[in-house]
Amino acid sequence: MFLQVTISYTDVTIIGAGAAGIGIAVQLTKLRIDFIILEKDSIGSSFKKWPKETRFISPSFTGNFFKMPDLNAITPDSSPAYTLLTEHPSGKEYATYLENVAKHYEIPIKTGQQVKKLIKKEDLFEIQTQNQTHKTKHLIWAAGEYQYKKQGNFKGSKHCTHNSEIKSFKELKGEEYIIIGGYESGFDAAIHLAKTNKKVTLLDSHNHIDLVNSDSSYSLSPYTRDQIKKQAEKIEYYTNARVKEVKQNKQGYEVTLESSKKFQTKNKPINATGFDSSLKLVKEHFEFEKDYPLLTEHDESTTTKNLYLTGPQVKHENALFCFIYKFRQRFGIITKKIAEDLNVNKEEIDELVQELKEYNFYLEDLSCCENECEC
Ligand SMILES: Cc1cc2nc3c(=O)[nH]c(=O)nc-3n(C[C@H](O)[C@H](O)[C@H](O)COP(=O)(O)OP(=O)(O)OC[C@H]3O[C@@H](n4cnc5c(N)ncnc54)[C@H](O)[C@@H]3O)c2cc1C
Repeated sequence: MFLQVTISYTDVTIIGAGAAGIGIAVQLTKLRIDFIILEKDSIGSSFKKWPKETRFISPSFTGNFFKMPDLNAITPDSSPAYTLLTEHPSGKEYATYLENVAKHYEIPIKTGQQVKKLIKKEDLFEIQTQNQTHKTKHLIWAAGEYQYKKQGNFKGSKHCTHNSEIKSFKELKGEEYIIIGGYESGFDAAIHLAKTNKKVTLLDSHNHIDLVNSDSSYSLSPYTRDQIKKQAEKIEYYTNARVKEVKQNKQGYEVTLESSKKFQTKNKPINATGFDSSLKLVKEHFEFEKDYPLLTEHDESTTTKNLYLTGPQVKHENALFCFIYKFRQRFGIITKKIAEDLNVNKEEIDELVQELKEYNFYLEDLSCCENECEC
């Protein structure tokens, strides 16, 4: 029996229907560019996979029409606070917001299309999914990080539950838990477990409580700090506690730090050391410096022409675009470059860029990211 493989074409293809994929799709729609989104599951699928109790740390507030768009909005004219009537949406709620935006702008999406391979043949990309070959001239990679868990930070990580595998903290039955990783995900797990009266040991390889930085990408959010204060008595917090190894033994699991200090627990430790990147699927099309891909000023791969990256892996020098309010400011940069290549009317492009600039949705001058708050 032969599997039927269909072949299709669009000028532009976006991989992934998350916050970045839907967000940039709206801008392409405004210029009537021919495109499609290929998505492996459904719209907002990463958000739907968050633990039930986890909520946005960045607050939503409808300031849009005073030119201060909701921090979690992916377009200047929409607001999760307005749609969802909450300040800190859950993942499931935020996916509803993304579905609303996609419906409103009639975004073309093919779901159930998991990209397996990307080949560049002369001027065209050939995108292979399980049952389709799709050809395109411009490709925007928006497949995110969340569904690609980081495993290899320490020996024996296979004995841990990665925090992205937890459906609800209430489902964890043990009395005490060790959490490895003391940044947002680690504290999120600690707070929710403490709320259900578990004894929590949190191993932070740094000291994130004392680290305060003007850039929200490098410092715990005020929302998380408020939650920690309420649960502090139930959380045993260790700083500079870098884990070397996790071993399974008769009593459960032994966690050893680089300092040789040992902890014993009956329950699988929770690995909250972060995510890998979907870019590992297409790594041959990018150059990397440390963990981040090198990008041109238009967020295009430095090695593969017409391949763009949007979303939280975008980094230029110290400017890390890992929050929605940050990476949404690059949608217009990519849209403009592609629209020019496709000979879209210049006045229409200028009009779109002007509108995005008015709403702080268009960031080209990255010198702003060097500043520290005065107080
Ligand atoms: C617990 C947690 C809390 C967070 N809180 C905040 C917050 O408060 N504020 C904030 O701004 N950010 C927050 N973030 C970060 C934010 O969620 C991400 O930056 C955002 O989801 C990135 O959007 P994205 O569209 O790039 O990726 P995703 O939302 O992961 O979307 C990627 C899409 O691509 C699809 N996909 C993946 N691989 C393939 C493939 N091979 N083929 C086809 N499709 C594929 C996925 O199914 C998914 O739908 C948080 C993240 C986590 C994990």
